[in-house]
Amino acid sequence: MSRAPDDRWLLLWDIDGTLLLKASGSHAAAVWDALREVHGIGDERLLKNQPMAGMTDGQIARDILVAAGVDHPQIDAHADTVAARTCETYEPGDLQGHVSPGVDVLLAELHDRDDVVQSLVTGNFEPIARRKLDAAGLGGWFAPEIGGGFGSDHEERRHLPGFARRRAGEALRADGTPWPPERTIVIGDTPRDIACARHDGVHVIAVATGGHPADELQDADAVATDAEELRAALLAVIDGREPSADPSRSPDPEVPA
Ligand SMILES: [Mg+2]
Repeated sequence: MSRAPDDRWLLLWDIDGTLLLKASGSHAAAVWDALREVHGIGDERLLKNQPMAGMTDGQIARDILVAAGVDHPQIDAHADTVAARTCETYEPGDLQGHVSPGVDVLLAELHDRDDVVQSLVTGNFEPIARRKLDAAGLGGWFAPEIGGGFGSDHEERRHLPGFARRRAGEALRADGTPWPPERTIVIGDTPRDIACARHDGVHVIAVATGGHPADELQDADAVATDAEELRAALLAVIDGREPSADPSRSPDPEVPA
């Protein structure tokens, strides 16, 4: 028997540092090539000095251009061209060796549940996100019809979970209303992932598999250091069990007589 749509959980996966590890080199190169071509900038130190974790593609491009002395009206005027050229020139190569260990098995397990819907919240422009996941062999777990929230939707990550909830609601809920925040979980690897979840009022589980160690992710509902801990943290929320911060604590303590 299939469940009522309102019973289901919407999981919003980040890509870089969460599903895939160290898989963004060719992506950064595509952003850089587009900026060189469209704006004529050329000092590669601008790229090397640019933080990227948890940021949207448009935000990364803007920061590089500001550092190069380009003003915001010029950046805005050419933002669509930069995005289009970035997507056109991106060549992911084979990313199957970059899947975060155990995450592929976890995605498959969650896909089999009738109370889980899997989608994306990533700073990647959508075409890049889709091609990156396809190149890693994970694209099949994220149906384009369910949508997601992408760097192509907004330059500020905090707005992306709202896009993903609206699209999933339109695709799967009988009344087409946005997916309820209390049935939505963001999974990501940076403080920016946590901040975007807080802004949208959804749950958030952080993974310390990207550039940020667990102690920098403590504002999340739970922090996992590998796929096994992530599975436990997700199932604790989905199955309605209290996540335990102390793994030595028994989930079913004996009640003293
Ligand atoms: Mg990330």
